[in-house]
Amino acid sequence: MSTKDYLEKDYYAVLGVPKTATAEEIKKAYRKLARQYHPDANPGDSATSGNTARFKEVSEAYDVLSDTKRRKEYDEARTLFGSGLGGYAGPGGAGRQGGFSFDLGDLFGGTHQQSGGIGDIFGGLFNRGGTAPRGTARTRRGQDVETEVTLSFAEAAEGTTVSLRLTSSSACTACGGTGAKAGTTPRVCPTCEGTGAASRNLGNFAFSEPCRDCKGRGLLVDDPCSVCEGSGRGKSTRTIQARIPAGVGDGQRIKIKAKGAPGENGGPAGDLYVQIHVKPHPVFGRTGENLTVTVPVTFTEAALGAEIKVPTLKGMPVTLRIPEGTPNGRTFRVRGRGVARKDGTKGDLLVTVEVLVPQQLEDKARGALEEFRDATAGFDPRAELIQQARSE
Ligand SMILES: [Zn+2]
Ligand SMILES: [Zn+2]
Repeated sequence: MSTKDYLEKDYYAVLGVPKTATAEEIKKAYRKLARQYHPDANPGDSATSGNTARFKEVSEAYDVLSDTKRRKEYDEARTLFGSGLGGYAGPGGAGRQGGFSFDLGDLFGGTHQQSGGIGDIFGGLFNRGGTAPRGTARTRRGQDVETEVTLSFAEAAEGTTVSLRLTSSSACTACGGTGAKAGTTPRVCPTCEGTGAASRNLGNFAFSEPCRDCKGRGLLVDDPCSVCEGSGRGKSTRTIQARIPAGVGDGQRIKIKAKGAPGENGGPAGDLYVQIHVKPHPVFGRTGENLTVTVPVTFTEAALGAEIKVPTLKGMPVTLRIPEGTPNGRTFRVRGRGVARKDGTKGDLLVTVEVLVPQQLEDKARGALEEFRDATAGFDPRAELIQQARSE
């Protein structure tokens, strides 16, 4: 920004705030305008559109007014020389070097939806000093792609391979992404010599912006491809086989590297994110790498001890020995019958016994239980409880 800029531009008017605005008010006004004019909010716009120009203006104004020191300089310059002096040539070298910066994290509140998108738009757009990187068409990382998949309980526990149908933006297949009609090739843009960037001087502050003639591509297409109308972009649907590791949980999001949209001009592919849904199982539950199951046992099995059959996930039942005098709700561990771990071993199956009380008794069974009652008449299971309650 030069002194000339300071005198010609009314940054307060650009942001629509009074001269007396607080830092907070300035920030608020900037955020509102930046959201409105930001290239992401106007995806159809070219780099030279009104919105883009307005966005730069707003950013420039905020850049000065948000910096206490620079705002003071700005106010002083305008008080000293009067404002609105169109054509005033400021004293050489009195302006500032560089300093054209803005905080994207601030602007977007740290949202993380489109990694890569912002970098793409601003890559080389505002680099200081006007030295655009030289090179041919810029490489661009492919977009990250999101998808979701619903697994059965067993698939999630043991790992599986799923087919995922992905739709992503990719190079147009008709022209191979060049945007030029079949049989023709794009030519290097003579304005920017293929860099895609143009340098612009603002007083003694220079910055580079996308070349107007080729819109930053570095290439010009004389005969556009009819399929993509010269954009070089197309939608592609592909099916990939993705390995879902054992032990994924419901609600987990897994990242599969480089399986997102393909990159452009030799850039790397984006990543694929898969949101996992797991259907519940009617019998088994999961806690981390262990499976859980509740198994009913009879009163006599619990009292006398028994060998009981316990179901396993996708396997034959196993025999579990429960000891004499097993209380209701006790949990036993069957090793190696849980969820597969990374190293190929498995977690455990946690078996919780639930003692059943018979709902109906045959005569013989009733007689036996009455005999049992008489035989244990001397035992009062509540005696200790009642005594404890009294002694407090
Ligand atoms: Zn095409
Ligand atoms: Zn160009």
